[in-house]
Amino acid sequence: MDCLFCKIVAGEIPANRIYEDDEVIAFNDINPQAPTHALIIPRKHIDTLNAADESDKSALGAMSLAAAKIAEQQGFAQSGYRTVMNCNEHGGQTVYHIHLHLLGGKAMGWPPYQDTLKTA
Ligand code: 5GP
Ligand code: ZN
Repeated sequence: MDCLFCKIVAGEIPANRIYEDDEVIAFNDINPQAPTHALIIPRKHIDTLNAADESDKSALGAMSLAAAKIAEQQGFAQSGYRTVMNCNEHGGQTVYHIHLHLLGGKAMGWPPYQDTLKTA
C-alpha cells in the first residue's frame, strides 16, 4: 500500500518520533502550526474516521490518551492544547491514514476558520 504514514510506521520514511506504544506512534508535523504540533497515528492503516469500525475502538482511544501523555511530557497539559482529526475534503484531510493533530504551546482562537460558512 502506498501510504506515507504506513511508511513512517514501518520506518521506511524518517520522522521525529516523540511517543509510541503498542497501538499508536506520534511524531512532529513537518509543517508545524503551533510550538508543538504532533501527529498521533494508529499503527494500523485506516483511511478516514468514516472507515473506522468497532474493532478500531481501542486504537482510537489510544490516540486520545497518547495526546494527553504527550501534552504532559511537553509541559502544556495544564495550560491547554487542541486535538483535531480532519475527515475528507471539507475537513481538510490531506493524508489518508487517520491522524490526531496535537497542537500546544500557545493560545489558539476559536472557531478555527476565518472563511465564510459554506453549505455543502
Ligand atoms: P491533514 O491535512 O491530513 O489533517 O494533516 C496532514 C498533516 O501531515 C499536515 O499537517 C502535514 O504538514 C503533515 N505531513 C505531510 N507530510 C508529512 C511528512 O512527510 N512528515 C511529517 N512529519 N508530516 C507530514
Ligand atoms: Zn497507512
